[in-house]
Amino acid sequence: MQPYSVCCIGLGAMGWGIAKNLALRQSSEINIASVGVWNRTPCVAQEHAKAFGTRYVDTLTEAAAADVIVTCLPTSLEVADIASTMRPHLRTGSLWIDCTSGEPEMTGQISKLLSEAGVDMVDSPVSGGPEGSLAGNLTAMVGGASFARAQPFISMFANRKIVHCGGIGSGNAVKAANNCLNAAHLVLAGEALLALAKFGVQPEVALEAINTSSGRSLQTEVRIPTEVLSRRFDYGFKIELMLKDVNTAVRSLKMQDDRDSLIHAMRRVLEASTEEQGLGADYTCVVKTLENRAGVELHPGVAPAFQA
Ligand code: NDP
Repeated sequence: MQPYSVCCIGLGAMGWGIAKNLALRQSSEINIASVGVWNRTPCVAQEHAKAFGTRYVDTLTEAAAADVIVTCLPTSLEVADIASTMRPHLRTGSLWIDCTSGEPEMTGQISKLLSEAGVDMVDSPVSGGPEGSLAGNLTAMVGGASFARAQPFISMFANRKIVHCGGIGSGNAVKAANNCLNAAHLVLAGEALLALAKFGVQPEVALEAINTSSGRSLQTEVRIPTEVLSRRFDYGFKIELMLKDVNTAVRSLKMQDDRDSLIHAMRRVLEASTEEQGLGADYTCVVKTLENRAGVELHPGVAPAFQA
């Protein structure tokens, strides 16, 4: 089997585990001979190399020598910047897998720029969070004509599911819509539990009923107990990145902002919360904003006196 060199760029909450699994997992389909790691803050890449036997890469010029480049950056803006810096040094025939939850249109532009340098690109945003990334247990939503070429590499870190969504940018579009649902479920469940707490029902009691009923979701089953009721608020997904995804969906999928749009109502809450909680706060902190508005907090065993 042909030996491939891979270079991972961006070792944040998601990129760290993606690079780890590319380095450590075995594949019967491909032979990954080396995994390089580059990060804006170099000590993170040095730490990764120490922890997983990856190869510390010092410069983007060096990173560009790889057969396969995997990016996981906050937005398409950083991907575009890095792609244009690397472009003169990229190898013809190489493959670029972008795991950023990006903008469909900008991904199309980056792909065009890369194809002029003889490089194929797919967008492959992922779902499953930092824990799923570390375990290699992500879902990948892939866009682009080079899907078949990219799939064996993506399967090294996306054990849960890989879906070819369509042309370039379509993975980004599906991911943005997915995160609208994710955020909307959280906001709705937060509002419902706060209303129940004011009514006199403890949140964990309400969840016991809801989680075996038709109103349940990932948020009621996992995220609210683990992050909100525990008062941990540390899932590992920054609130501004969630807002970016919702804004991407609204712009790219041309969602109308009318009075009855639930997604726009959720977006306004998320916007206010990003302002209130500050950049870098966990996305689950949107519930803190709802709590401030309601004048009640969601703690286990705590509900004001029954008021009916
Ligand atoms: P983090 O903020 O944890 O990591 C961001 C990474 O990008 C870091 O390696 C950071 O480097 C690097 N970076 C930031 N700005 C620049 C820049 N200007 N130039 C070069 N590198 C830069 O983000 P996540 O890992 O959480 O998110 C990455 C992508 O994955 C986002 O698109 C996000 O929406 C998506 N995502 C996140 C999930 C999550 O649960 N966290 C789940 C699914 C998708 P440095 O170390 O120097 O800061």
